[in-house]
Amino acid sequence: MSEIRNVAVLGAGTMGHGIAQVCAVAGMDVVMRDVDDAALARGQRGIEGSLGKLTEKGKLDAPARDAALARIRVTTELADAVRGADLVVEAIPEIMALKIETFRAVAAHAPAHALLASNTSSLSVTEIGAASGAPERVVGLHFFNPVPLMTLLEIVRGLATSDASVERARALATRIGKEPIVVKDFPGFATSRLGVILGCEAIRMLESGVASAADIDKAMKLGYRHPMGPLELTDLVGLDVRLAILEHLHRELGEQFRPPALLRQMVRAGKLGKKSGEGFYRY
Ligand code: NAD
Repeated sequence: MSEIRNVAVLGAGTMGHGIAQVCAVAGMDVVMRDVDDAALARGQRGIEGSLGKLTEKGKLDAPARDAALARIRVTTELADAVRGADLVVEAIPEIMALKIETFRAVAAHAPAHALLASNTSSLSVTEIGAASGAPERVVGLHFFNPVPLMTLLEIVRGLATSDASVERARALATRIGKEPIVVKDFPGFATSRLGVILGCEAIRMLESGVASAADIDKAMKLGYRHPMGPLELTDLVGLDVRLAILEHLHRELGEQFRPPALLRQMVRAGKLGKKSGEGFYRY
């Protein structure tokens, strides 16, 4: 089992820049790829901000911060990003057609030994793997938001994922300080399925006028000891991301996952949560 030294992260958004950061802090060389320079610049600012906070809190010293930053390179070219990679982590939008197109290109340009991972929240790792043509090397690496702070790493085993790939994913989790669980490829895995249903019900309650957003969140924080309310969490995840997951789970698992009309309206209005400055709250 070859050691992972070089990582390509595809997508520099909410998740991609966090994944690039934790890999660089753990000593890996990272190439982060997005479709344009503006997205890459936003991702880089996100990494600088997060590393800066960790340094202020005394969790990372200044030389380690600077070394991590120096290990991250950015590009808009996919082939350039994956050419020397031992690990590719895809964190692009939750749209199967996009993931399939990307994994086909990744399999064509990445080295034959590379572990190919998707950060998908709900889509089929088996389907992504089959489309890539190298299904034994394709695994789900489901990180949580914000990546540097959340310790869970959900490893998703597709139907054709090899034991060796799962073991490489486990070893990676340990190296980057995450706690892994290994789950079977099934819509919504062990996490998103429960997580989104709570957010979905909270939005339906808001639609019905049961309580204000702040009070629904307060109820779950004080009554159930959740660290964050379901609407605050939806804002953090991104309303568009949650909608895409719900649409998929609605198709796969049925009526209980039907996306609420309010969620659709808010996404259409560009209220995507924290990343756009407004969702259920203003930022
Ligand atoms: P995001 O919208 O914040 O970022 C997506 C990025 O991908 C954008 O910067 C976009 O420009 C870029 N992009 C689009 N097409 C691309 C392509 N072909 N190649 C490279 N980059 C491309 O989304 P996100 O929240 O980071 O979500 C990414 C993935 O992670 C999704 O599959 C999502 O379900 C999953 N996920 C999200 C969260 C969360 O809390 N947001 C948590 C776990 C998993």
